Amino acid sequence: MAIVNSENDLMEKIVSLCKRRGFIFQSSEIYGGYNGFWDYGPYGIEFKNAVQQLWWKYMVTTRDNVVGLDSTIICHPRTWKASGHVDRFSDIMCDCKDCKTRYRVDQMEDPTTCSNCGSKNLTPPREFNLMLKTYVGPVFDEDHVAYLRAETCQPIFTDFHLIRIATRKQLPFGIAQIGKSFRNEITPRNFTFRSREFTQMEMEFFCSDEDSMKWYEFWKEERMKFYTTKLGFKSEFLQYHDHDTLAHYAKAAVDIEFKYPFGWGELEGIHHRGTWDMSRHQEFSQENLEYLDQLTNKKYLPTVVETSVGLDRMLLATLAQAYDEDKAPTKKEGMDDDVRIVLHLTPMIAPVQVAVMPLSKKLNEKADALQKDLCNFYRTELDVTGNIGKRYRRQDEIGTPFCVTYDFDSDTDNAVTVRERDTMAQERVSLSNLRSYLDEKIYK
Ligand code: ATP
Repeated sequence: MAIVNSENDLMEKIVSLCKRRGFIFQSSEIYGGYNGFWDYGPYGIEFKNAVQQLWWKYMVTTRDNVVGLDSTIICHPRTWKASGHVDRFSDIMCDCKDCKTRYRVDQMEDPTTCSNCGSKNLTPPREFNLMLKTYVGPVFDEDHVAYLRAETCQPIFTDFHLIRIATRKQLPFGIAQIGKSFRNEITPRNFTFRSREFTQMEMEFFCSDEDSMKWYEFWKEERMKFYTTKLGFKSEFLQYHDHDTLAHYAKAAVDIEFKYPFGWGELEGIHHRGTWDMSRHQEFSQENLEYLDQLTNKKYLPTVVETSVGLDRMLLATLAQAYDEDKAPTKKEGMDDDVRIVLHLTPMIAPVQVAVMPLSKKLNEKADALQKDLCNFYRTELDVTGNIGKRYRRQDEIGTPFCVTYDFDSDTDNAVTVRERDTMAQERVSLSNLRSYLDEKIYK
């Protein structure tokens, strides 16, 4: 039974759990924190890696028409001139002169009034470029300005022909990349939803213009399927939202939105980008970026269909789906049932997949040996402190799907007790069957 009272309540609980258990916390906390920057702690990084690998496997490893790339974060500055980011990647902002609250004008309910203090004493709206700048080389002047990439896709476009030639791929095919992106967001907020440094997972699919709408529909469905089948999201928490206005070069664009605790928000975008990116890089580099179609012998610039998602937003959505509070029966007579916090993460992405627990300190060595064996196959942890009930609660809170207890009978019956997180059911499993038992449950 879920006993979370309100959606804001849920957001606070997620933030608090993330900090308490070392999933995600504010960067540079000892200096008062740094707004818009977040660190992933020991459980956070295991969780993040697992979700990232799930995406990579779904988008790249299991397809023969998508390949990968890991490009630099700082690219030739002309890349960002060509992409339009240097001249146009900006938001309009204004400040309240009385309470100093800063706003992105497009996100204000009423652009003439400060929603914090009610004042109408606002600065005139002004443009603010979101690119983060740095300098490359020993001279700090305008000629040496470089940019931290604002999206991971641009190097995919500039490397397209190198990758095509190296892999001998013919159109249609895609190139995927996971990596850090940087945006000097005016109002970072909602925990990791809007940060200044974040990880993107993007795939650019290159095809002919004639086929492009077919591929757009294909990727639109594939990406939705990822959330419902691979991450186990409930479909009522997901919706498509077609863009109201399209970029002049685009034939179609849609967001997959998720119902976050603070309301519906963009999780991922699927964009038909036409030949815009390739034509801009062709113009700015003066290189011919056309593709020679060997079947028709025609040369053309490939059309691009893009899938683009922020990993941090995906993790936040996953935590919001997984968080629950229910009642675990206590064995003590006359006592109320315990409230347990539990993350219902699927076994593939749980930061710890199997926790090994000795029933008593005397069994520590045996449990330790078992964990050292299992850690070759799963993400494991040896949990030795506190009574078994407390250890179960701790593991529930970080979403561990299986707890394996080594007890005093284990030496004689060569078996252990496996406790399943969601049902709390316990089963005796022989040590010789433990691997196949866990494999079946985790990788099925
Ligand atoms: P928004 O409208 O929310 O600012 P966007 O339309 O600018 O997002 P895109 O440029 O299409 O976003 O980026 C693709 C994806 O990257 C988004 O769907 C989102 O998941 C992620 N993303 C974008 N900006 C941020 C950010 N500041 N923090 C975290 N993730 C982000």
